[in-house]
Order: sequence, then C-alpha cells, then structure tokens
Amino acid sequence: MSPTLDQMREAQRALESPLFSGLPGDIEVSFEFFPPKTEKMGETLWQSVQTLEPLDPRFVSVTYGAGGSTRERTHEAVRRIVRDTAIPAAAHLTCVQATKEEVDAVAREYWEEGVRHIVALRGDAPDADTGYAPHPGGYENAADLIAGLKKIADFEISVAAYPEVHPDSPDRQADLDNLKRKFDAGATRAITQFFFEPECFFDFRDKAAAAGIEGEIVPGIMPVMSFAAVQRMSGLCGTAIPDWMEGLFDGLDERPEARQLVSATIAAEMCRRLYAGGVRQFHFYTLNRAELSYAICHMLGLRPKA
Ligand SMILES: Cc1cc2nc3c(=O)[nH]c(=O)nc-3n(C[C@H](O)[C@H](O)[C@H](O)COP(=O)(O)OP(=O)(O)OC[C@H]3O[C@@H](n4cnc5c(N)ncnc54)[C@H](O)[C@@H]3O)c2cc1C
Repeated sequence: MSPTLDQMREAQRALESPLFSGLPGDIEVSFEFFPPKTEKMGETLWQSVQTLEPLDPRFVSVTYGAGGSTRERTHEAVRRIVRDTAIPAAAHLTCVQATKEEVDAVAREYWEEGVRHIVALRGDAPDADTGYAPHPGGYENAADLIAGLKKIADFEISVAAYPEVHPDSPDRQADLDNLKRKFDAGATRAITQFFFEPECFFDFRDKAAAAGIEGEIVPGIMPVMSFAAVQRMSGLCGTAIPDWMEGLFDGLDERPEARQLVSATIAAEMCRRLYAGGVRQFHFYTLNRAELSYAICHMLGLRPKA
C-alpha cells in the first residue's frame, strides 16, 4: 500500500519535531486482561480497569485459559466489567477440550448477560509438545468457531492474526488464507500477536491487503514487564526479539521502576511509528497492570474523557 499525502506529512513531522509533540489524541484503544487467580490479583485487575476506563476504550477483553481452565474466572471478570463499568466487554473463547455444545452454552450465557463481543480463538493444546488436535465433537479451528457463534447470535467477533506467521502454519500465504476465512466467517477485526518492529506490522498489513483482506487489523502491543517472560513467550509464538532489545533491558532485572520507564519508552516509540504509518487503533496486552498502557496512551495524545 503506498502512503497517502497525510501519512507522508505525518512521517515528516515525526522526524522534525520531538517525537510525541502535538498529537491530537485521535486514536482508539482497547485493553486485554487475564482472569485473576487470587483475590489480591482480582483487586489489581479491578484497579487497572478503573484506571483505564476514563480513556474510553472501545472494549476491554478477558482471556480464556488453555483448555477452558479459567472458564469460571474469565466469566466472573467479564460479568463484573458488564455490571460495574460502561466499557463494552469482550470475552475470549477457545475451541480446546470442549464439544461444540459446551462452547455454545458458554456463548449463550454471555449473550444473555449482555456480552456482545467474543474474541474467537482456536487455542492451543494444554501440553505444548503434543500439538493441537480438535476435540472430537468440538470446533475445528477459529473459523469454524466463528460460524458456530454467528448461528447463536449476532456477536461482534475479533480474531487473532500473526504478523510473523503462526507457528502451525506451513507458510505466510496459508496463514493469510486462514485469516481471510475468519473474516469471511464473520469476524469484524483481527488483533495481532505482539511484535517489536513497526515494519513487521506494516509489511503484514500490506500482505493482508494484497490477499484481499479488507477488515480492520489492529496491532497488539505488549509493553515488556519482564524481559525473561517476553523471551519465553516470544519463543512459543514465533515473535522475533530485535537484537537491540536485550541490551536495553540488560542490568534492569532488580530495578522494576527503571525497567518500566524503559519499557514504556520502547513501546511508545513503536506506537508512535505505527501512528505515523496511519495506525489509529491499538490493542494493549496489559498483563493486568494499567500504568504502562496508560502512559503509552498518554504519550500518543489520549486524555481521559470527561
Ligand atoms: C489477540 C490474541 C488473543 C489470544 N487470546 C487467547 C486466549 O484468551 N486463550 C488462549 O488459549 N489463547 C489465546 N491466544 C493464542 C491462540 O489461541 C493461539 O495462537 C492458537 O495457537 C491459534 O489460535 P487462532 O485462533 O489464531 O487459530 P486459527 O486461526 O484457527 O489457526 C491457527 C493456525 O492453524 C492454521 N489452520 C487453522 N485451520 C486450518 C486448516 N483448516 N487447515 C490448515 N491450517 C489451518 C492456521 O493457518 C494458523 O496458522 C490469543 C492470541 C492472540 C493473537
């Protein structure tokens, strides 16, 4: 996709003035949380939701543990967001270790409780070594799940996308074909796996457009809380960690506050470059901590709504 005149002006401005000066805050954001395991973690989650609510997110979503292991906790967190906030809530749902009837029952319950948005995923095998196999009588993959959900109710549906290609995919084209099948089945947006170089997203966006994908593709932003944890996760999901990154976090293991500042700087700069390339929607993997995501949104010009 060739840049528009606006994008070229914007890129020029990004080079000439201080990086974050004068941004009008014309972005839309969403935030992802995971279901808390303990009461204390529940409090942290809740404080994070309340901190981020004034930024007027399009939605906040709650993940679903492998094999439905967090089914009740995911449900409880989503229910509380619906009940106690004005933010549209999205519930993640996977196909793993459940029959279609079981998955459908969860979705129906969500609909009855006022949840109108599902992040529809295949999920992974609980044992990473065995690889994914559909449950007998279950949904085969995310596209199949979307078709099932759409039969239940007219949910808004978000799906996952992989700028660096999903590890199970034979190649980029097969992965894009799969993404297209998910849009064709009724998804309204794709949220990407996290990545650390803006070019990675731009390249993916171009390739998706060339593959005939017209739906919204939102970058998933992962501010680094722990570099070791990010290395582990990146290894599992195939995200490349740029060489420069390790050096930036080197020596900060025992300095959480300095690490947070470094982390916010790196993530905000990447978002700024995405913004310069025309991106206006961002999805943050908050890991249930609000401050990093809040700081990045602030640097991108977003301010609390009255
Ligand atoms: C934004 C986001 C949120 C997530 N949230 C969760 C969560 O809450 N809980 C959780 O457990 N996991 C979550 N995940 C991880 C996700 O479940 C894994 O990445 C999983 O391995 C793939 O799920 P998917 O929905 O992308 O699968 P799919 O889109 O179904 O496909 C995965 C891979 O299999 C290939 N494939 C699928 N169908 C076929 C077919 N018929 N023939 C050939 N190849 C096929 C695709 O090309 C693709 O490479 C999330 C990921 C992202 C990016």
